Parts: sequence; C-alpha cells; structure tokens
Amino acid sequence: MTQATVAATPQIPHLPARVFEELEIVRDPANLFHQTIEQVLIAAELVGLKHHQQIIIAQPKNEIMVHFPVLMDDGHHQLFKGYRVQHNNALGPYKGGLRYHPHVHLDDVKALAVLMTMKCSLVRVPFGGGKGGVKCNPRELSRDELMRVTRRFCSAISNQIGPDYDIPAPDVGTNAQIMAWFADTYQQMMPEHTRQDTHRIVTGKPVELGGSLGREKATGQGLVNVLVEMLPELDIELQNMRFSLIGFGNVGGWTGRLLCELGATLTAVLDHTGAIHNDGGIDAVKLAEHVEATGGVHAFRGAEAIGEDEFYRLDVDALIPAALEQMITPEKARLINARVVAEGANAPTTPEGDAVLLQRGIEVLPAILCNAGGVTVSYFEWVQNKSSVSWTAEEVDERLKTHMVLAARRVKLARVKYECDMRTASYCAALEAIARCYDLRGVFP
Ligand code: NAD
Repeated sequence: MTQATVAATPQIPHLPARVFEELEIVRDPANLFHQTIEQVLIAAELVGLKHHQQIIIAQPKNEIMVHFPVLMDDGHHQLFKGYRVQHNNALGPYKGGLRYHPHVHLDDVKALAVLMTMKCSLVRVPFGGGKGGVKCNPRELSRDELMRVTRRFCSAISNQIGPDYDIPAPDVGTNAQIMAWFADTYQQMMPEHTRQDTHRIVTGKPVELGGSLGREKATGQGLVNVLVEMLPELDIELQNMRFSLIGFGNVGGWTGRLLCELGATLTAVLDHTGAIHNDGGIDAVKLAEHVEATGGVHAFRGAEAIGEDEFYRLDVDALIPAALEQMITPEKARLINARVVAEGANAPTTPEGDAVLLQRGIEVLPAILCNAGGVTVSYFEWVQNKSSVSWTAEEVDERLKTHMVLAARRVKLARVKYECDMRTASYCAALEAIARCYDLRGVFP
C-alpha cells in the first residue's frame, strides 16, 4: 500500500456511545481507557460482535486496588498503591505486565489490560488480558526498597492471581530481577508440597530461574518480524531504511540493535534525558552501553544533541515510538516526517494524533501487532515451565516469527475485508477470535 492509499476507517460514532451510555461511562476524550474502548467498539461493530459481547468487552472483569506499607531504608513506613486489572479471560488465563511508574493509575491500567486481551487474541496465544502496577518511582528507590515493594505487592494480590489464572510479567520500570523477587515471594506463600513449578506465576524471569531464552529481546524481535512482513507493501527496503526511536529501554534498545544488524540506519533517539541525532548513523550497540552506564541517551558521544521538536521533524522512513503512552499528539503528528510509524510502545498515539497521521498519509502499524512479541515469548516461557523443557534460542526465534508473520497477515486481510485503517483492522482480527469463542461457549447459565 502506498501513502496515497492509506484507508480511512468508517465512522460509527453512535454505536460506542450507546454502549457507553448503557454502562454509564461518561466519556472523557483525554481518558486512555475510554479512547481504547471506543476504538475497540468501532471494530466490534465492523466484525458484527453481538451486543452482549460488546458490553462484556467494554469493561474489565475485575479491578483490584491495594494499599500496602513498606519499610523504607531510613526506617519509616511508606504506603504504596498497587493495581491489578483482569480484563478478559475468554481465551485463557489473564496475562499482562506490571508497571512501576509515578503516574500509574486505574484507568490507564484498565486500558493496557484491554490492549493485552486484543494482543493475545491477535497473535493467537491462549491468554486473556490483564495489567498491573505500583504507583512509585523505581529510580528513586534503593534496590532493597524495590525488593520490599515487590514482595509486599505480590503478597497483597497473591490470592487474586495464579500460575493458571493470572500471570504477570515485566513492563515499564520492572525487569527480570523484579520478576525473580515476585516469583520467590509467591512460592514462599504456597504450602511447600504445592510449590512445584509455581514459578510460572510470572514470565520474563531470569533464565536461571526458568526464564526463556529470547524473552529479553522478544518485543524488539517481534517488531522487526512485523516490519519485514509489512515494509514491502510500503515500498521501503529494510536494508536501506532510516529510522528514529522514541525510548531506548527494553523495546527501543533491542529494536534499534536488531534493525541495525539487518542494515538499517538509526539516525535519532529521544528519551527522558533528551534527543540525539547523527545523520550518518548511530551505533546502537555503543548507545545501549552508554544508556546502561548513564541511564539515558544524553551526552552520547556518537551523536549531537537536538531539541524535541527537531527530533520529530527529522526526515526518516520509519519512526518507532517505544516509550510511554500518548506521546504522539496532534502537534507532534504534524511535525512528523516519516512514511510509517511502527508502534513499539502501547498506545503511543492519541486518537487525534492518529487522525492527523492518517490524513497526512503516514501509515501507522498498531501496537497490538508491533509489540506482541513480548507476550508471545512469555507464552513460550510459560509452556516451557509447565512442561519442564527448555527450548533453544533458535527454536524460540523461529516460533516467534511464525506467530508474528501470521498476525501481520491477519491484519492485512482484515484491512481489506473491513475496508479500514490498520489499527481498526488489528482490533477486527483480534475480535474475530473472541467472537467465535463467545458464540461457541454462550453465556452461563
Ligand atoms: P523501559 O522502562 O525499558 O524503557 C522506557 C523508555 O522510555 C526509556 O528509554 C525511557 O527513557 C523512555 N521514556 C520515558 N519517559 C519518556 C519521555 N517523557 N520522553 C521520551 N522517552 C521517555 O520500558 P519498555 O519495557 O521498553 O517499554 C516501553 C513501551 O513498550 C511501554 O509502552 C510498554 O508498555 C511497551 N511494551 C513493552 C514490552 C516489553 O516486553 N518490555 C512488551 C510490550 C509492550
């Protein structure tokens, strides 16, 4: 598909409004959960999801909110707020990351849980959608404090999760070490004779504790697999592609390194410490070492510092947001000078930003497709734990590629079938599987 043929999505505004009214949701355009549900409901209508199925999808099954005290290094106790939202488990156990960030709040966690339901369905892994988090700034906590926050949070929600019921994973601000503490705490709370293989309560664990080879790079690898499948239609050659990244953490860092290995050129990166640019190409491996040592891209010697607006204006083939939600606002979208935006982060584009990109002929490859590699390899980790086997890195890569390529093809087919944009098509392809499941099982009693 060329820029001129980017398809617009048919507008069906009254239908989400009807479901919103019935569920007594007062729509706030700035609310990420409302935005997400609205987009999903537009796709649901195109797919023909029955009304009762639409209302099920429009609200999470469970919203768990906990408060717990933690002993801080200076001897005082601080109260923390934690969340676990279980959106839907029609296709399998709830699955989704745990985020540690000062801005974590209920509606964002609900939105991210919805996206997990859609993502798992799109890549056809037998999981539902969940998400959780703790409102805290992990950068301001010592290692011991981080461990105590994790252990208390795990104990606070331990009765509501389970290795075959709800399985957390890393997300922004959490990592394999935090998953190790979480798994250990959960196991200590189980009677000893039932502990066997309950370490699969979380995925994204260190390999030594049952983590999967290939999990750390999985989201970046999956994004690369999607680009390999999608770029020919956009008339972009990966080997000659020039790209920029927002975020150089797990997703951005791995995507950058893997694309550079394939011959693409990374020309700019923006993160929470600033923006850098080098038209001749940034060495992604050296940048990863710099970020590991200093915490951000600021002061990297292989590039020059630039302003944020300048970053967005740069002429690139692909812009890959891999940081936080809602960064591509209409103002930023008007600056972007890329042919495709491939969403590594969850919900990085506001609906208004999306509309500007669509109107400017910039293709958007949606998050539930682009970043599904992480949950796919999380599923592989869970399967390996459940069956006490270890797959080789090559086996993981090969299986991941199959899931990602098939998901990308599903989205392309849905775009043609429902005559809509890529984001709506990705929700349509996800909802088709959920609709079939509900049609077959019906509603109890
Ligand atoms: P991370 O914590 O490893 O990295 C986050 C990055 O965002 C960092 O580079 C940070 O500097 C940058 N950032 C933070 N605030 C910023 C700001 N204001 N401006 C610019 N950059 C900013 O997180 P991650 O795991 O790489 O996750 C990134 C995104 O990808 C999130 O939306 C997450 O939900 C999504 N995601 C992650 C995974 C995974 O496997 N880690 C899987 C699917 C989706």
